Amino acid sequence: MARACRVIPGGVNSPVRAFRAVGGTPRFVQRAAGAYFWDADGERFTDYIGSWGPMILGHGHPAVLEAVEKAARDGFSYGAPTEREIALAEEVIKLVPSVEMLRLVSSGTEAGMSAIRLARGATGRDQIIKFEGCYHGHADSLLVKGGSGLATFGHPSSAGVPEDLVAHTLVAEYNNVQELEALFQQHGKRIACVIMEPIAGNMNFVRASVEFTRRCRELCTQHGALLIYDEVMTGFRVALGGAQSVYARSIPGFEPDISMFGKVIGGGMPMAAFGGKRTVMEQLAPLGPVYQAGTLSGNPIATACGLATLREIQQPGFFEDLTRKTHRLVDGLMAQATKAGVPFSADSEGGMFGYFFLPELPRNYGQVAHTDMARFNRFYHGMLQRHVYLAPGLYEANFMSAAHSDADIDTTLAAAGEVLRAL
Ligand SMILES: *Cc1c(COP(=O)(O)O)cnc(C)c1O
Repeated sequence: MARACRVIPGGVNSPVRAFRAVGGTPRFVQRAAGAYFWDADGERFTDYIGSWGPMILGHGHPAVLEAVEKAARDGFSYGAPTEREIALAEEVIKLVPSVEMLRLVSSGTEAGMSAIRLARGATGRDQIIKFEGCYHGHADSLLVKGGSGLATFGHPSSAGVPEDLVAHTLVAEYNNVQELEALFQQHGKRIACVIMEPIAGNMNFVRASVEFTRRCRELCTQHGALLIYDEVMTGFRVALGGAQSVYARSIPGFEPDISMFGKVIGGGMPMAAFGGKRTVMEQLAPLGPVYQAGTLSGNPIATACGLATLREIQQPGFFEDLTRKTHRLVDGLMAQATKAGVPFSADSEGGMFGYFFLPELPRNYGQVAHTDMARFNRFYHGMLQRHVYLAPGLYEANFMSAAHSDADIDTTLAAAGEVLRAL
């Protein structure tokens, strides 16, 4: 870490890896296989972050490895179209009915930036609504925090972002229907889009309520704004059809206008995408006036990795088994916490889960922030000492993979029991 800090700011290439939230020194990973990774000291950890979601099959799945090796031999990048890009778009369109056309990019950040430009271009409007605690990548206009009190125009949440660049971003509380209605009432005709995480994984794990989801859709339709679902984390992770398919069970016909994907879609390679209704997507260059491009977009190795991953997760029973294991872990954690007399709540969908040292599940960022941080960090380090690698921060989600066995879950639960009793 000391060597890293001399040449890389904070020693890491993405801030959360530095362990600032939980304290201590991050583990440097040497290699990974299945449900485990080994650090530079040769210690083995059970991995519940899986690269923050992409490794849904576990590390080094044979079918994915084979696809990547074969693709690598055929060349790393061409800057010209390939058949696998078509196959990947076809696969996503098959799995997510709201998507009629898709464009590939290289990161979730790019997907978010492009989706918003597209929404603005397609509607001819400038303002956007985002929710406090949702993360959509680090594009300038999305690095905002709300003012105090009622929903309002945001202020930059990062240095280096001019006030002018967030002047069109309205920030509202997640799951707050009244606030959203008030925003639309005041600004309706100027709002290009609402962008949201349908299950927010960047404030641990917070579901949008069915009522909130329904009103987001209705208000957008009513005011001619587009609804953008950021499924970078939830896509192909909480269900084959993403979080939108989960909400469609309660709200018949429910669909967003634009969806963003990342993480699982690349299977661990730098790939992401955004897609949606044909009429909207046709606004993109070279067909339409909205410019968007990328030298490595649709990279042949990334598409091979993503396609192989998407094919594996469609095996019969894949999500049933993944969901069963996640439930087993989450239910087990709750039982251990109850036994230890520790206030605790947890939730999950498919292969994504979150837990809180709160008696009830939070519904928005402010409630998540009420968690006893010291207790969270003691739990985190207790688990790390026992070789269980959970997300190093209160605002992060956790992930199950197909490679985790019931024995791995038992070991994790035994460790959690010890740590919770000592809290
Ligand atoms: C990870 C994430 C992003 C950003 O993706 P990057 O590939 O890290 O740029 C955007 N939105 C959500 C919901 C995410 O979880």
